[in-house]
Amino acid sequence: MSDPHELKVLNPATEELIATVPAATAEDVDAAVVRAGRAQTRWAALAPADRARLLRRFADVVDAHTEELAQLEVREAGHTVGNARWEVGNARDLLLYAAGGAERLLGRQIPAPGGWDVTFQEPLGVIGVIAPWNFPLPIAAWGSFPALAAGNAVVLKPAEATPLTALRLAELALEAGLPEHVLQVLPGYGGTAGRALVDHPDVAKIVFTGSTHTGREVMERCARLVKPVTLELGGKSPSVVFADADLKAALDPFSFLDNSGQDCCARTRILVQEAVLDEARAFLADALAAVVVGDPADEKTQMGPLISGRQLERVRSYVPEDAPALRGSAPDGPGFWFPPTVLTGERHDSPAAREEIFGPVAVLLPFTDEEDAVRLANDTPYGLSGSIWTRDVGRALRVSQAVRAGNLSVNSHSSVRYWTPFGGFKQSGLGRELGPDALTAFTETKNVFISTEGPAQ
Ligand code: NAD
Repeated sequence: MSDPHELKVLNPATEELIATVPAATAEDVDAAVVRAGRAQTRWAALAPADRARLLRRFADVVDAHTEELAQLEVREAGHTVGNARWEVGNARDLLLYAAGGAERLLGRQIPAPGGWDVTFQEPLGVIGVIAPWNFPLPIAAWGSFPALAAGNAVVLKPAEATPLTALRLAELALEAGLPEHVLQVLPGYGGTAGRALVDHPDVAKIVFTGSTHTGREVMERCARLVKPVTLELGGKSPSVVFADADLKAALDPFSFLDNSGQDCCARTRILVQEAVLDEARAFLADALAAVVVGDPADEKTQMGPLISGRQLERVRSYVPEDAPALRGSAPDGPGFWFPPTVLTGERHDSPAAREEIFGPVAVLLPFTDEEDAVRLANDTPYGLSGSIWTRDVGRALRVSQAVRAGNLSVNSHSSVRYWTPFGGFKQSGLGRELGPDALTAFTETKNVFISTEGPAQ
């Protein structure tokens, strides 16, 4: 039974306790929201150029602490050190992008008979950001930085297992000169601190990233207060590989093994046209065998551990030892290790083919033609990402129009760029983060009509 007053942070590669962090209570959340409300009024009153200048300074401070933040992400989340450095760079770049947005967040003037009509994009106030453990630093950044740039204050609750990089980020914000309480990080349990943030009447919006199961509850609770909510939820993304594709690139195992498969965009349904199925199977068998799994702090490591014993059990439950599969290797414990795996004997409607496993496990499924490929690609309650691999441009366009997902890539497995919108269709979520509209999502539009015809009689 975990102590409700503290969080124990383990290194998932060794199972060693690396930190014990006090867990926020509902009262702590309330006090943080009150402080944030006061700070937000002053923050929003700054000239946009001054807000932007402070965010750029914050980006410089983050940049100067790249190695420290990356090593922290390696130790608390088990990310490979190369990936963790990329994540810090991504957070820094998003800060710079958001700073530019702060200077360009404009209202409009609309022609109106008898007067002037103007719109303002006003900050919402205090934003509650709730983050998962799989990408602790990037998701803290995506939820918080555009919100700050638009003149809001943020209270961020990181996941129970991974509070450390977010806590350090808040310290660096102060070091960069951001006003106190504009960015507060409150580690705590979802059922107490998370719920308190969602239910708080003075939190103007919730940005939730996590499982579809929890997202549903968050949305229901927000509905009671008619509180806007952004939901970034689960995924079961397809990679649709036609026979004419560059098979080597299309079947890159890191399309589903990055972050040990604990990636909402992981391409865990590998749909391959029948004509090249045997070739694909042989390629994947070799590719999985070559993946270097081990200490995430080692520069040569390509895949680290899962986050926890609980996650390891979950992944194992989808992969019986006698299941037909291609398998790589993984270290024995201590640490939460699972080998790279492609299940080859699944039906398209089996639990392993439909549910988000959130581990280094994909399913290989054959399809016959374009129509069959689209049907299988859409045969899931999720709609976050997906890849389409073909040299036929017309087919690439047709299939990308037909697949119901928020982030598709053609002849690429890339999903996330801070300058393009990100979010899911169907049960993968609601709303968008990042991209050119990221700041507007943290504003309310106000329209003011100014009569030019004197006071009304
Ligand atoms: P989770 O839903 O268990 O927890 C996410 C966060 O919600 C944690 O901070 C948790 O403490 C908090 N929480 C739990 N119960 C709560 C409640 N009742 N009220 C308020 N907050 C509560 O998810 P997880 O296991 O930490 O993360 C993995 C999931 O996140 C996967 O499903 C993955 O696909 C998803 N994810 C989605 C995206 C995306 O952008 N779409 C990105 C990363 C992860």
